Amino acid sequence: MSAVFEGAVMTAEGMLYNGVICQPVVEKCEGCERSKQFEGQNYCGSYAQPQSKWALGVCNFATHVKASVDKTGKVKINPLKASKRAAKGR
Ligand code: SF4
Repeated sequence: MSAVFEGAVMTAEGMLYNGVICQPVVEKCEGCERSKQFEGQNYCGSYAQPQSKWALGVCNFATHVKASVDKTGKVKINPLKASKRAAKGR
């Protein structure tokens, strides 16, 4: 396994990586390929603040879900794996 977050250090505020404090991933990140472990916690390889990515609706970098906006402007989240499973059962 190659080292992820190379040179990162744990601080009281969070993981310090490339001069940025990174917060752990949030629940919605579960299953995303960009989520990588560091010292027993998962962090996003793309965003220092995963929570704020999801606060706007859906993370546009997520690899496990796909978001679409319907006609009313509501964000719909489609889990990619689940939709594949559903298609198989047809
Ligand atoms: S890319 Fe988005 S969904 Fe994936 S771990 Fe990072 S913040 Fe979470």
